[in-house]
Amino acid sequence: MKKMIVASSSAILGSGYLEYLLPTLKLHFKNVKTLTFIPYARPSGISYDVYTSIVKKAFGQIDINVKGLHKFKDYKEALLQSEGIFVGGGNTFELVNQLYKKDILSILKLAINNGVPFLSTSAGSNICGINMMNTNDMPVVNPPSFKTLGCIPFNVNTHYIEPLVEAENSTETKDRAFLKRHLLKGRETKIKEFHFYNKTPVLALREGSWLYVEGDKITLQGDYKAKLFRSKVKPIEIESGLEILIK
Ligand code: ASP
Repeated sequence: MKKMIVASSSAILGSGYLEYLLPTLKLHFKNVKTLTFIPYARPSGISYDVYTSIVKKAFGQIDINVKGLHKFKDYKEALLQSEGIFVGGGNTFELVNQLYKKDILSILKLAINNGVPFLSTSAGSNICGINMMNTNDMPVVNPPSFKTLGCIPFNVNTHYIEPLVEAENSTETKDRAFLKRHLLKGRETKIKEFHFYNKTPVLALREGSWLYVEGDKITLQGDYKAKLFRSKVKPIEIESGLEILIK
């Protein structure tokens, strides 16, 4: 049975890397001594070793050791033998590109379906859905396909913000006008464009929100609502704590 935490972000404003999630992760990974970390999204292009050391430090606080997948000789075997798996954020295009290059997308899916406790943040979460087409990232590389894990029956848009709030809170009139023009309709417009060509539902996850997946049951967790966008239907807000039921 799948046991996944699919988080919008690795950190929330004013707190350290994974800090807001640590109590949850302590329970989620309670039987895990060593976690396998997939560093391929490499935010800002940092090396796999540096990225893994950041993750190691965070998990050290809950006494879990971390080993980067790049350190194993046989990636497929490593994933299948993992006690727990974490796919970190960064650039979604490069993450997907590497998973295809190394031919491990289906093995990762198998490990998740087998019930290995799994965590993803940001770009890592973008690959849990049907495809990666709702990422906010720039296409810095060209992956062989946009198709991703399909471990949840919809796509996610991570780091979702309502730009209107930011624009309204800005004290600078000039800033406000700029934000309104460039950001106000930004996310919604992009998702609307996606739904002009595609039917896959998109769940927009705000910072500090995550999905808890237990088998086929998906529940929204964290302090915020999530916004569900579907083709030809007005978006709806879903309260935290509720099950995500998408037909
Ligand atoms: N670049 C983001 C991250 O991993 C993913 C996204 O915004 O789509 O943090």
